[in-house]
Parts: sequence; structure tokens; C-alpha cells
Amino acid sequence: MASGAISQHTRELSEPSEPTLLDLLSNTLVLHHIVPHLPITSLLRVASASKALRGLIQHTPGVFRHVDLTSIHSAQVDIKAIDHGGEIWRNVQLDENLTEDDFYSGPLRGIFYNIGHFGVLQNVQTLVLDGLSVTAELVNEILVDPRFHVRILSIRDAKNLNERKLMQSLRYACRASREEGTPQLKGLYIFGKKDTPVLPAATSTASTPSARSASISIDWNHKSNHALKEAMTADGEDWYHKRGKMISRPIAEGWAETLLDCRSAINFDAVLCTGPRHQNSPALGRVPVLTVPGGRSPWSVATFALGGCNSCGCAPEGFTEYGESLAEQLPLLAPPPLHSSNPKNATRPQNIHADGKEPLRFVPRCWDCIRDRYCFSCDQWWCESCYQAPTDAELQAAQHVHIVEDTGSLSDHEAVATEPPKLKDPKIKRDCWECQTNCLDCIAQTQLHCRVCGGGYCIKHHEGSTMTHCDWCSARGRHIRELY
Ligand SMILES: [Zn+2]
Ligand SMILES: [Zn+2]
Ligand SMILES: [Zn+2]
Ligand SMILES: [Zn+2]
Ligand SMILES: [Zn+2]
Repeated sequence: MASGAISQHTRELSEPSEPTLLDLLSNTLVLHHIVPHLPITSLLRVASASKALRGLIQHTPGVFRHVDLTSIHSAQVDIKAIDHGGEIWRNVQLDENLTEDDFYSGPLRGIFYNIGHFGVLQNVQTLVLDGLSVTAELVNEILVDPRFHVRILSIRDAKNLNERKLMQSLRYACRASREEGTPQLKGLYIFGKKDTPVLPAATSTASTPSARSASISIDWNHKSNHALKEAMTADGEDWYHKRGKMISRPIAEGWAETLLDCRSAINFDAVLCTGPRHQNSPALGRVPVLTVPGGRSPWSVATFALGGCNSCGCAPEGFTEYGESLAEQLPLLAPPPLHSSNPKNATRPQNIHADGKEPLRFVPRCWDCIRDRYCFSCDQWWCESCYQAPTDAELQAAQHVHIVEDTGSLSDHEAVATEPPKLKDPKIKRDCWECQTNCLDCIAQTQLHCRVCGGGYCIKHHEGSTMTHCDWCSARGRHIRELY
């Protein structure tokens, strides 16, 4: 059969009933599935195309539930890049008597004002402001102003954010004497990294139909990247599936107390460390813990997700387990969900069904609670019940005995007096600065001794070294071979 005949036939059949965009979007199932993938600018552009579309988008509940402003050009103005040392802001202040907050939150307040006019601000339940200029005052407004009904807020990598002020606002909003049903905010993403933008943001200046459709398709691509990232997360990049460091940014003092105070009200994209040195730990006082330098706070934010201890398979405090632990002990998982603003869904691991009966769990720990007991190469660790690292005093005492023995001039009487204290076998050592702390198995594989000079080297970090020669000897060998 000729293909021309088929397409002719198809066209005749489909033409009378071909659905318009309005027909398609009038199906609320389709509409609700599509809109979270569209940036608000695209949505407003679609709304401006006809009166019917505007009516549909403006009056269908839930259309503006998930709003991501990170790709909006006017929100992205990087004040910090142009304002070295706050010079511009000071000039502006002299001229117009603005507050610092007015200045740094200006771009976002402008957008809120505009979409407020369109009547959508009060419908926003998930608001994504990652990487934008977001002041603590603005977040406080989102927390307490009745104009806002935001349940999940994401401000990862936000600029010009005074974290101390933000902590105060959060702790006040979650105080014991707060009004019932407040705060409306139930989830705050702040500790993780923002999702990496893959494509440049669409400009809002597109006016011709072709430019407009091009910019909509860029938006679509951006959003499918989001979907892709969500799918990648399903492959195991969250607290339950990844092992090792989860939060790389420094945690300001006061966050642990803030997490504690907000516990029954707000979930964060981080949880408290459950190590036995902390007051919130179920294992507090059950196992011996060493004091650590600077470890003053009785609470700490967990920055590592670990599996069970390499010896006992668990931890003195047990696991944080999805479906078993209290909801308030679960971290929000990135990225913020597109199709729900319920914090319960934001804490649900993506591939919960794929894993079958395998429990989804992890041990949340801060660095102080795993130093000298965690291997940065293979992510294995030993818990406090199974292993106590030698203390500095023990290491020093052992070293001192070696020095005394080396002199060889001691009488029998003296040698008995300095009977060497039994040094516990350390399971974790730091032989290479860059490898950080490693277990003995990993050290055996990476820290080698040169067959020529006998010096120690790291096969991973001493560039040019081989399995038999250190970097220096193998470079010299090459050099000598080149000479002759
Ligand atoms: Zn153990
Ligand atoms: Zn800890
Ligand atoms: Zn190394
Ligand atoms: Zn290891
Ligand atoms: Zn060598």
C-alpha cells in the first residue's frame, strides 16, 4: 500500500475531531500532569494566548501548586556578582532609603507582586527558590504572611540569606505556644545542593510566536531534565541508597537546635545525628564515647549516611528506617516532588517498591561521631560498641616505649618499669592526606612501598607512581632511559 494513501486516509479521519490545546488542557488529569513541568512564565504565556485559556488556567485549582522560579530571568539577577562589598546597595540606600532586605529580596518581591496580581500566589504550595537572592525576612514573610500558603519551600544555595535570622524565625514559628495549624510550612530544603541547571533560562522578552514557542520548548527541555534527575535519584542518590557524605556545605551553629525545635512541625532535607554522644540518641550513655575537640553542642546535624557497622551490622542507636522510624525523623529527599506538596511524599524514597522487602534504612551521623571509625574509600565504619580507636595519649605512650626500646642501653630493671601498654589495633588510619581516613584493607591496596628507594607513596594521589615504583623513582627511571 502506498504511504501517501495512508496519510491521506488518516487526515480525513482525524480532521473533524482534532483536539485543540484548550480541549487537551480542559482535561484536568492532563492539565495537572503537565503544569508542574512548566515554568510559571510559560504558563502565563499560554494563559495570555486566549481568554478561554486564561480562564482555564486561572480558575482550575492546583494549577499553580508547584512554582519553580529558578529559571525566571528576572529572579536570577546576581546581585552579589555586580555588588562587590555592598557598594551598590549602599549607594541605593543613600538615594532611596531602602533597607538592605528590600534591596536583596527586591527581584523576588517584584515577582510575588506580579503573580499576586494574577491571583495565583495564595495557590502556591511548593515554592522553589534555589540559588536565588532570598533574605531571611522574605522567608519569614512566607512563614507568617497569610498571603502565602507554602507547604514545601526549597532555598538550597540561596544567596544573601542570614541563616541566624532564619533560624530565629523558624524556631519562633515552631514554638510550643504557637497557634494550632501553624506554621503552614511543613518542609524546608536548605542543606542540599540545588539541582544543576542544564540549559540557559528562557528570556521573558520573547514576543514573536516562533520565539515564544522556542522559549516554551526550552522550558520544556529544562523540565524534562528535572524529570530525568528525579529518575536518576531513583537509582540511589538519597540518604537511603547513597553511602558517605550527604551534605558538603558547612553547617552553621544553631541548626541542630533549630531542627530539634521544629521537629514536630517541619521536615528538613537533613536530620539530627543519632550517635550515642548526643542527647537525642536512643543509645545515650549505653556505650563509651570519647570527647571530641569543639564538640560542645549536645545535638548535631548528620552530614553522613552510613550502612550498618562493619562488625555488628548495626549501630548502638539502631537504624533510621523508612516505614519504621517516626515521620519527624525522616529527611526530605531531593529534588522536591513535582506532583505533590505533601511532605510525606517528599520523604518517601523513590524506588520503594523496586527494593522489595529490603528495608530502606541508614545510620545518620555527624563527622564527630565517625572520625577515626570511617573509611573514606569504601564507606565502611565501625560503631562504638565494636571498636574504640586508640586515644592520643595511648598512641603517645606506645610511641614513647618505642623510643626507649630503641636506645638499647637500659638495665633489665628499667625495661620492666616501661612494660609497653597494649596498643589497640587501629582499624582506621590516615596514611595519605588526600585519601583521608581509610580502613586497613583500603590502605593495603593504595599505600605502597617503592622497590627502589623504599619510600612510602599513595598509588591514587602520587601522580606518575606505579605498583612498584614511587612517583620520584619512576620519573627518574624514565629520565635515565631517555638519556641512554
Ligand atoms: Zn558494631
Ligand atoms: Zn554525632
Ligand atoms: Zn591518597
Ligand atoms: Zn576501606
Ligand atoms: Zn622510590
